Amino acid sequence: MSTQTVNNAQAHESMFEAVLARLDAAAKLMNLSSDVLNVLRNPQKEVKVSLPITMDNGSIQVFEGYRTVHSTHLGPSKGGIRYALDVNSDEVRALAAWMSFKCAVANLPYGGAKGGIKCDPRAMSVGELERLSRAYAKAMKDVFGVNRDIPAPDMGTSGREMAWMLDEYNKVVGEDSPGVITGKPIAVGGSLGRDAATGRGVMVNTLAALKKMNLNPSQVTAVVQGFGNVGSHAARLLSEKGIKIVGIGDHTASYYNEKGIDIQAALDFAAKNNRVLKGFTGATEIQASELLISKCDVLVPAALQNVITVDNATKIQAKLIVEGANGPTAPEADQILNDKNIICIPDILANSGGVTVSYFEWVQNKAGYYWTEEEVNTKHDLKMEIAFEAIWNNSAKYKSSMRLAAYITALEKIELGVKLKGAY
Ligand code: GLU
Repeated sequence: MSTQTVNNAQAHESMFEAVLARLDAAAKLMNLSSDVLNVLRNPQKEVKVSLPITMDNGSIQVFEGYRTVHSTHLGPSKGGIRYALDVNSDEVRALAAWMSFKCAVANLPYGGAKGGIKCDPRAMSVGELERLSRAYAKAMKDVFGVNRDIPAPDMGTSGREMAWMLDEYNKVVGEDSPGVITGKPIAVGGSLGRDAATGRGVMVNTLAALKKMNLNPSQVTAVVQGFGNVGSHAARLLSEKGIKIVGIGDHTASYYNEKGIDIQAALDFAAKNNRVLKGFTGATEIQASELLISKCDVLVPAALQNVITVDNATKIQAKLIVEGANGPTAPEADQILNDKNIICIPDILANSGGVTVSYFEWVQNKAGYYWTEEEVNTKHDLKMEIAFEAIWNNSAKYKSSMRLAAYITALEKIELGVKLKGAY
């Protein structure tokens, strides 16, 4: 594997700067027009709102809400909304840019966007979360639109928040527009298969990579970091394909068992335990910092950004990393992984299953006709395999890492969009 990588000398304090470093590196390698590069270095639209919410104790708390549209060159912008305490404009900008590249990689007719509210959803009541979600949707009524900007869940949000936002949006605009938001519960226009889709994409990418590496899934072990929507489905689907899951973990605890963890037992445990793993008895509890560097063939970081760093990258034992989370590898760690010949399937490919089925949901909403889960999964798997193959081929063509190849693949498409339609 080539050692081409980005600006590894210095750590990036800004997440968006880190995206730009990778964007610049890919642009240089593929010879992207400097005009197009300049367009993509600047997000198209950034909206920040203050959301005053009456809390259950009667006080009023003001929350910051963000939505950044990075690009619309390939279609309306698409991307999730996250609820977390560290949400800020720089992070939302970075995540919006990744959505542009992710949608292009997955061959979806979308640009990229991201939103977020700075809050701690775990510390809020259901009523407070509903009022906050509705206030955000109302404030963003001119940003969102079924053919303009289409949000979805991300960290800290789920179908529940999407249903509230859809209802609020519909009330404000005065019509029923289910396709304005995806990741909805099935009963209000969601798609079968959407919930598991990001984890499913991780599974399809893992199998595709193992095939290229001539490794048989039944002889392979995996560690999955994160047991939320992405990690839990990824662990389940990987184990269903015969891969032995030896390590799992979430923000409450991490576990390792070299004989393999019964993932169904872990899922059942979490379902009864406030959706967290702390207290699980099917494996030995280990330090969170040990999980990523424990012995395994495949490592799936499916929790947070910047967990693979210069400090732990040298100790990673996996041969293959499949990025379920957005931005789990700090840019400075890319070079270390490349030097160790670890194949890293980057986030913008590995976790694009979620937005792919969001696209199917939007298509079904527009058509008013709904598919079976099998239809959704079959179409998803095919799209994912095509995306994987294109990036694998570009990685060989440009002698680059899979990450830079994914950026290049996205940039080739967006460059065409800009050239054919114009920059605005
Ligand atoms: N938030 C997810 C992501 O980062 C899904 C986005 C979507 O479905 O629009 O890919």
